[in-house]
Amino acid sequence: MKHMKTVLILEHTEEVFDKLTCDVCGTESHWDENWSSAEPEKHITTVQLEEEESFPNGGQSTQTQFHICPTCFKTKLSAWFESHRQAKATVSNSVW
Ligand SMILES: [Zn+2]
Repeated sequence: MKHMKTVLILEHTEEVFDKLTCDVCGTESHWDENWSSAEPEKHITTVQLEEEESFPNGGQSTQTQFHICPTCFKTKLSAWFESHRQAKATVSNSVW
């Protein structure tokens, strides 16, 4: 006799965060979007263009991002900005 049973076969895939790499040098981050290698530290970089349209019945937005490690941010991106029209970064500090 051939016995049959019902089994649940999970064939589900989903895009989940794996790692973050620098778009300039390829370095991998250590903690999700935190580039620091020391656990108590947090080094986050953001280079993003967000374009949004809002209408009464809905809207849309597009985010364009570059992921860049702190070293490339300081040595390449900041250097590029500062060499063009002497642009200076906005630096904010907070203490808690
Ligand atoms: Zn880099």
